[in-house]
Amino acid sequence: KVVCVTGGSGFIASWLVKLLLQRGYTIRATVRDLNDPKKTEHLRALDGAKERLTLFKVNLLDEGGFDAVVDGCEGVFHTASPVTLTPNNPQADLIEPALKGTLNVLKSCTKAASIKRVIVTSSMASVAYNGKALTPDVIVDETWFSDPSFCESQKLWYVLSKTLADEAAWKFAKESGIDMVTINPGYVIGPILQPTVNVTTGLIFESINARKFPDDTFRFVDVRDVANAHIQAFEVPSASGRYCLVGRVGDTVEVLKIVREHYPTLHFPEEVPGGKDLILPFHNVSNDKAKTLGINFTPLEMTVIDTIESLKEKGFVK
Ligand code: NDP
Repeated sequence: KVVCVTGGSGFIASWLVKLLLQRGYTIRATVRDLNDPKKTEHLRALDGAKERLTLFKVNLLDEGGFDAVVDGCEGVFHTASPVTLTPNNPQADLIEPALKGTLNVLKSCTKAASIKRVIVTSSMASVAYNGKALTPDVIVDETWFSDPSFCESQKLWYVLSKTLADEAAWKFAKESGIDMVTINPGYVIGPILQPTVNVTTGLIFESINARKFPDDTFRFVDVRDVANAHIQAFEVPSASGRYCLVGRVGDTVEVLKIVREHYPTLHFPEEVPGGKDLILPFHNVSNDKAKTLGINFTPLEMTVIDTIESLKEKGFVK
């Protein structure tokens, strides 16, 4: 089976490509720069890549740029979208590529008769931010939708970009009749395949070198579970709608405890956050629907250990 992965060189997408190759798929992956070895070499080195992976250069804003790539594919996994929490220009850096890029990919999909289903990497960002209080007795699930005006009022630009993209994607899918499923992951961490550290893994593990740790609540999910959920959402015929993908809601103190226990010699922050000044209040997220896709969530401890092992292997942590 031939499938397309947009943004193939990213943190989540690299795992998606790896698992798709393992499952025997032939993959057309799009990247922004074919000449940057940091974006392509780790993909070309994957088992099966030589025989079944082709890379294409496409920018999200190239109108019609995905037409030729998706034509002939049975499935399209649209993961590409900018990830930054500190944009210089929210509109140009985040919102346009997220929103226009998603519609651009979906439009190309309507032109290809071969496509059976499109899986879009959405986010908990497009689920949980609507002004409703998040408290320990709240359970967020797929019936929740973020509110763009709330995101804007809070200047949550990345959250806004994912909310607008999710909203527009659902509207477009309904109007065009595309069979679309979205995966809405929480805060993704896990071993990295690419040679650079992605934003979310970097933020949580930067303390190892920088001696600071954000005191916050995170809706943790392992990158391998996220990649697997994308494939399951394509393969399970009854999959539909949105899937909140959160293994466990926890805080940074929990991650610190795991690291201290398993890596006592790592240089860790002297100041351990107290878990009291959390930016995001503690709340729950239901992963019942995700479990119907056959996802067995990786325990946080294993995710943390595997993340550190991969950071050590790549020389980011000594
Ligand atoms: P990465 O930054 O590793 O991946 C983002 C990908 O998008 C990269 O391949 C990047 O290409 C590509 N991209 C960005 N802008 C453009 C553009 N204008 N044209 C073409 N490609 C572009 O982050 P993640 O793997 O974490 O994120 C992947 C997806 O998952 C995103 O949609 C993100 O919103 C979503 N997500 C991530 C979560 C997380 O915690 N990490 C949580 C929930 C959702 P390049 O490598 O060239 O920059």
